[in-house]
Amino acid sequence: MMTEEKVLQLAAEGQEQLWLNPKKVAFEKVRSGFPVTEREMDEAEQRLLRFAPYLAKVFPETAETGGIIESPLREIPEMAVWLRKEYGTEGKWLLKMDSELPIAGSIKARGGIYEVLQYAEQLAMEQGLLQPEDDYAILAEEPFRQLFAKYTIQVGSTGNLGLSIGIISAKLGFQVIVHMSADAKQWKKELLRSKGVTVIEYPQDYGKAVEEGRKQSQLDPMSYFVDDENSRSLFLGYTVAGRRLSQQLEEQKIPVDAEHPLFVYLPCGIGGAPGGVAFGLKHQFGDHVHCFFTEPTEACCMLLGMATGKHDEIAVQDIGLSGKTQADGLAVGRPSAFVGRIMDPLLSGCGTVEDIRLFHWMRQLLEREGLFIEPSSCAAFALAPRWKDLQEYICKEGLQGKAITHIAWATGGRLVPQEEREQYIHYGE
Ligand SMILES: *Cc1c(COP(=O)(O)O)cnc(C)c1O
Repeated sequence: MMTEEKVLQLAAEGQEQLWLNPKKVAFEKVRSGFPVTEREMDEAEQRLLRFAPYLAKVFPETAETGGIIESPLREIPEMAVWLRKEYGTEGKWLLKMDSELPIAGSIKARGGIYEVLQYAEQLAMEQGLLQPEDDYAILAEEPFRQLFAKYTIQVGSTGNLGLSIGIISAKLGFQVIVHMSADAKQWKKELLRSKGVTVIEYPQDYGKAVEEGRKQSQLDPMSYFVDDENSRSLFLGYTVAGRRLSQQLEEQKIPVDAEHPLFVYLPCGIGGAPGGVAFGLKHQFGDHVHCFFTEPTEACCMLLGMATGKHDEIAVQDIGLSGKTQADGLAVGRPSAFVGRIMDPLLSGCGTVEDIRLFHWMRQLLEREGLFIEPSSCAAFALAPRWKDLQEYICKEGLQGKAITHIAWATGGRLVPQEEREQYIHYGE
């Protein structure tokens, strides 16, 4: 186990590392002590079911799944062969393809859309326009649109959260303002503007975009701010992935138990998405699932927050890092205030990766499996080169010789335009 000092030194030098979480404990010891409850997770799942008829109606791409926003889980045998040859990894590899999620094309289609739906439902119920047992397809009708048009939804984003919030809010009829950080890609801003969303651009980073968005939203009593730094609602939307993944594994006859541990690698920005997913997974599989967050070396904010115990009181800039990365979805300098604290007893560790590898892995996945995912998503492979370091964890947990299933959680990609894909594919060659 590395000392905190050593972890910080490696981070400050921009070196890749695997930090193992010394605070992780047996799940049953902490199960009932979280600020987010199982009952709330059930409610989130129920709410998404209520909204399914509406989503199926207004987003035809979700009609096939009956308005349920879910992604495929796919084995990637050729990539596994390559990872083994290159890094010595052992075990089966699966790709959880949130990169293909409908509507927003990224993992933000889970949390972001959920939070806006929850708010819309609350408004409509307060007005007496909606009952829980109604067919929610009526939300597409004029009285609802007129109601929502009186309200503004605002959010700060590096891109993907803005896309998910912007697209669903505009569809419901809300006014929307997305505060975009400097990292945000041009095509994301243009896509949003084409849907009638107001995009305000900031030359600074994500933290600034959120701060300004929050401030402007507070000035308007008819405005609702989706607060990525603190939102329980976003978090809850992500947790639903746990139960759904459990179903998919069952359907594919992939066991998860003491003999078949599941290792899940989740690209992390501010922590809400990977935190919510990991939280849901722990409730499904307890100690049989081992969750790791993965971050770019220059934006390893969750690693810093958790390793030092300072959480949102430390930023990557405090140790001289830039916070800048080609993985725009992960370009966050300061972790969420509450996610790291929830993850303290749950997370197995954090791995970091240099940007240049992300593009390499992107090309490998495309060549070997014919799958495109965006650079941020490729951070899901960050633990492969750390395979030797991971042995310490495997020994400590008594998992030597067990059949590990690895899930790389691909967090985005579907909406990336073809020209952008070409640029990514040739980046750094
Ligand atoms: C937002 C995002 C993440 C990480 O989510 P956080 O909630 O910021 O931790 C990972 N990958 C992609 C592609 C994203 O857009």
